[in-house]
Amino acid sequence: MSKDKEMSEEDYLKKHLGDLDNPKNIMNNDIPFVAQPKVDNTRTTDLQFFNFDIKELPCGEFYPSGTVFMVRPAQVREIQAYSMVDDNNFYDIVEKMNDILQSCVRVKYPDGKIGSYIEVKDQDRLFLVFLIRELTFQQGNSLTVNSKCSCGEDVQMELKRDNFSFHEIDEKLERYFSASTRTYHFSTVNGREFELTPPNIGLQKSFTDYILKESNEKRTPNLSFLKIIPFMLAGRTSITYEGIKAKLKEFEEIDDISFQFLNAAVGKMTFGIKELKKKCSCGEEVHTDMQFPNGASGIFVIHDAFEAYIKE
Ligand SMILES: [Zn+2]
Repeated sequence: MSKDKEMSEEDYLKKHLGDLDNPKNIMNNDIPFVAQPKVDNTRTTDLQFFNFDIKELPCGEFYPSGTVFMVRPAQVREIQAYSMVDDNNFYDIVEKMNDILQSCVRVKYPDGKIGSYIEVKDQDRLFLVFLIRELTFQQGNSLTVNSKCSCGEDVQMELKRDNFSFHEIDEKLERYFSASTRTYHFSTVNGREFELTPPNIGLQKSFTDYILKESNEKRTPNLSFLKIIPFMLAGRTSITYEGIKAKLKEFEEIDDISFQFLNAAVGKMTFGIKELKKKCSCGEEVHTDMQFPNGASGIFVIHDAFEAYIKE
């Protein structure tokens, strides 16, 4: 198997768990907080959900057409739980973001069925977190990144939907997209057929549990496997530890052509928020990297709340 382009474990986890910046202490899963009480999801009917078209999402085309996202602002208890996020622990950041999605996001399918955050595509997580932020802080509290235009003007870019630009879907993939299954179907020269689609949060959670278990038991996970296999589980929202082990065995016995093909195909499947963009007053569009000012906690924790809210 190809070793030349092998990602480091950290690179892999960054990619697998979403496109977040600069995770530190990535294997430190010793989260020093007590387990949070599970949010009661059954009594949210009286809370106001707003409907959003799936076309707004980076991975919108991978949901059945006619699907609607229902999103509501975060309540104070949810912000309280999120505020305890460990900005240096990548797993904790993803978990806390998932918790917010669990409370604030529903997926409504064209047949009327309602799904949960588990069915949300992993690479839509960050977009939805920022959407929830927008709904939560409608009175302002903007989160901005400063950039400079080539004309010399300072441009303040707010982290909100209007300013996000997404990774574009590789045009080579387009003709293999099936509108009925919302997945890619590939036939390869060695007579194999593959169905690929971006994994959802349910699968991400299963693989995170697997990675943590292997890591705790001092086994080195097969990173190539972890990069590719989540894309090969279309239609599923979870997989057991034994299920992953069985897939690993299959993967390790795969032929060279299939491996090389799958590795390249998954390499083209980077979706989600790519960068921030905004038009300068001179008309030029300014671009800058996606980033979290004040860390991941700063998404819902107001940085200067003391100064903002103290009564002088
Ligand atoms: Zn300018």
